[in-house]
Formats: sequence, C-alpha cells, structure tokens
Amino acid sequence: MPELPEVETTRRGIEPHLVGRTIERLVCRVPRLRWPLPGEAASLAGQQVLGVARRAKYLLLRCSGGTLILHLGMSGHLHLVAAGTPPQTHDHVDLVFTDGSALRFNDARRFGALLWTPDDPHRHPLLVELGPEPFAAEMDGAYLYRRSRGRKGSVKPFIMDQQVVVGVGNIYASEALFRAGIDPRRPAGSIGLARYERLAAAICEVLTEAIAAGGTTIRDFTDAGGKPGYFRRQLKVYGREGEDCPACGRPIVCSRIAGRSTYFCRKCQN
Ligand SMILES: [Zn+2]
Repeated sequence: MPELPEVETTRRGIEPHLVGRTIERLVCRVPRLRWPLPGEAASLAGQQVLGVARRAKYLLLRCSGGTLILHLGMSGHLHLVAAGTPPQTHDHVDLVFTDGSALRFNDARRFGALLWTPDDPHRHPLLVELGPEPFAAEMDGAYLYRRSRGRKGSVKPFIMDQQVVVGVGNIYASEALFRAGIDPRRPAGSIGLARYERLAAAICEVLTEAIAAGGTTIRDFTDAGGKPGYFRRQLKVYGREGEDCPACGRPIVCSRIAGRSTYFCRKCQN
C-alpha cells in the first residue's frame, strides 16, 4: 500500500509534467473507485493545473477553478501517457490534457479516490479532521506529549492515528519507535516529554530518508509502462523478525498491537 513517502515521491514525479497543462476532459472507464468518480460531465474542461500539493496521503491537483483530490488507495498508481494510448487492465481513469498527454490512474483494487471540489480542499470532509503533517513545525515533542496525556492505549497506534499526526503508517511507526528507543507496547500517556522529542525527530528522520530513497529510484513517469518509484526500503526492524537487531544483535521480535504487525527489539526499546 502506498504510504506517505510513496505519495510524496509520486507528487514530485508528476508535478513538473502537469503544471501549466490544461484539462480537456476526464475519461472514466468505471463509474466509481472507492466513491463515485466526478464523471465525464464534470466541468473540468479548460481547467489549468497550477500545482500539485500533498496533504497526508491525498494528492491535490490545484486547478484554476478548484482542486482534484486524488488518493492512491491500496494499489493505485499514476503515469503519464499519450492520450490515445490503449488502456490496459485497471487503467480506470484518464485526465486528458489539451496538449495530447494524459495522466492515467491505474487501480486494481479500486480503493483509490478521485474527487473534485471547487472549494478549499483543506475544508473538505476527508481532510478537515486530519492532524498536522509530520514535517510541520507544530508537530514536535511537546505536541505529542500534550496529545498523549491520559491515553492508556499503546504508543504505536497513537502515532498512527491520523487525527494526531498524518502519514505515519505501520512500517514507519515501527521504524521510528526503534530509533527513539521506545517500546511500542507502552501506553502513550506514560511516555515523558524528552522521549516524545526523540520520537518526533525519529518520525521526521524515517520519513525524510524514505522520501529521499524514493527520489533516487523514481522511474520516469512519462514511460507508459511506468509505475511509481516505490523505493527499496532500508528498514532496521520492520519485516525482520528473528534477525539480529542492528544495535545490540538480539533477535527482533514481532507482535500484534492494535491488530497490526509490530517489530521491535526487547533490549533497545523500553
Ligand atoms: Zn537491540
């Protein structure tokens, strides 16, 4: 599933190709993905793309008269094609531009989303409740400490709560907690300020490195066969059950916390 670094990598990959282009039409080969599509009758024709932003895992194609909100769901990916290129299986949507190019959305599992809003996208019901971005100045140790007071649940689901902070998926939560030396099972409300400062920094570090790795392996989005450049992740604990902890050499363990696989070192994290 695309997590925040993959979405940011996709944003950086497509933005230079889309800015300044004018939409000719929207081609929908299915009526809906996760929700009904805007439909080919939507008044997108003539909209110029001004920029591509990201909020959590939503891509925001800012246009002259509104914003296309795009979510890759579980399996979605985008690539740029010539408008007449025959669609392959699961090529559900084309955003066709007047210059003869098209942004093609392939989504095998159809959990993705494409929505149009003429209003401020940050006020959209999908976005309005979201917590701060992991890189926002306000998302620091003091913020996590304040938000966690009184919380008896484990710290891992706490930092994965999109209303607390966005973009910390299951993989990055395990990695950040390892770097911060925090046992993922600990109640969020029992962790002190200094440790939350380490955790906030670790979250930024892990995501920054993942985005940088995505950037170095990104494929050419203009390649018709291209898929987003999902980077090969340099993971220290995630998916490494039974392997040696890179810090102390003891075996990494895996347990389920709030229903999600969680990898950690019993010695280094407490
Ligand atoms: Zn260890």
